[in-house]
Amino acid sequence: MEEPTIFEKIISGDIPADIVLDGEGFLAFRDINPQAPEHVLVIPKTKIRGIHELNLLDAETLYAFMQGIRKTALHLGLEEGGYRVVFNTGKDAQQSVDYIHAHILGGRAMTWPPG
Ligand code: IMP
Repeated sequence: MEEPTIFEKIISGDIPADIVLDGEGFLAFRDINPQAPEHVLVIPKTKIRGIHELNLLDAETLYAFMQGIRKTALHLGLEEGGYRVVFNTGKDAQQSVDYIHAHILGGRAMTWPPG
């Protein structure tokens, strides 16, 4: 069987995480290596590897995940100042965890393009 990713271990409680929101169908927790004053990862509770596997999620799960991103940003108080949502996907984007995750970054002015 495939070795569980670190995010599956967070969902199962096998490794600790700084949970921001534990919602219906999604989990939001602080990134261990923050790149902004607010840096939170949002994952669906059903595993897919990345955006390229979105076709494997049913509509309800996908909806809950997307709403989870919105709810987390709201919970963090980022709606007024704005925030960035990033899905690193695959090798060139340096995706390091093979479980889809949205990075929510906020609390500072961002630059463009990202590196
Ligand atoms: P990626 O590079 O887009 O795949 O992002 C993976 C993110 O997971 C990185 O920003 C890491 O800092 C973060 N990360 C890795 N392990 C943990 C953990 O145990 N808790 C929280 N965040 C983690």
